[in-house]
Amino acid sequence: MKPIDLLRQLQEVDSRLDADRARLVEVVAELADRSAVDDARRERDVRAVTLKQIEAEQRDLELEIETFRAQLTAIENKLYGGRVGDAKELTNLNREAGQVRGLISPREDRLLQLFEAADEASATLAAAEARLGEVEAARRMDEARLGAERDTLSGAIGVDETTQASGRPQVAPATLRTYDHLRRTRGGLAVAEVRQRTCQGCRISLTISEEQRARHGDSLVICQSCGRILYATS
Ligand SMILES: [Zn+2]
Repeated sequence: MKPIDLLRQLQEVDSRLDADRARLVEVVAELADRSAVDDARRERDVRAVTLKQIEAEQRDLELEIETFRAQLTAIENKLYGGRVGDAKELTNLNREAGQVRGLISPREDRLLQLFEAADEASATLAAAEARLGEVEAARRMDEARLGAERDTLSGAIGVDETTQASGRPQVAPATLRTYDHLRRTRGGLAVAEVRQRTCQGCRISLTISEEQRARHGDSLVICQSCGRILYATS
C-alpha cells in the first residue's frame, strides 16, 4: 500500500476516534447530570411543605374556634338558663359573650382564607407531582438512549484503537512524526484532499504539477500553504 493510502486510512480512523471520544465525554456528562429530576423533585417537596403548613394552621384554628365556642356555650347557658337573676352579673356575662364572639369571628374569616389557600396549594402540588412524573419518565428514556450510545461509542473506540495500533507501525517513523505534528497543529486534520486543484484543508489553489503529484501518490506532497499531506482521487 502507498504511504499516502496508509495515512488516509490512519486519518480516517483518528478523525473518527476524535469525534467518538468527544461525544463519549458529552454522553457520560449527560448521564451524570440528574439536575432536571432533582429540580422537579425539590419543587414538588417545596409545594408539599406549603400545603402541610396551611393544613397545620387550619387544624390549630379549628381547635381554637372549638374551644371558644365551648366557652360561649357555657356563658350563654348561664345567661339564658334563668338561674342568674343579678342584673350586674347578667351584664358581665353579656360582655364576656361578646368578647368570646369577638375572638371567634376573625378566626372563622382566617379559616375561610385558609380553605381557599389549601385548594390552591393542592392544585399546585398536583401540577408539581405531574411535572416530576414527566421529568422522571423523560429521564428514564434519556438514560436508556445515552447508555446505549455510550456502549456503542465504547465499542467503536475499541475497534478503532486496535486499527490505529496496527496501522501506525506500517507508516515510516519520520512520516508518522510529520503526521502527528500536523494533527496536533492543524485541528486534527493532517491529510487533505485536493479537489478542483484546491487544498481542501486550507482552500488554497495548487499548481497543476502539485495536483498531478498528489494524484500519482508515489511520494508525499505537502501543501505549501497549510503544510498538510495532500491526496487526490480523481
Ligand atoms: Zn493546504
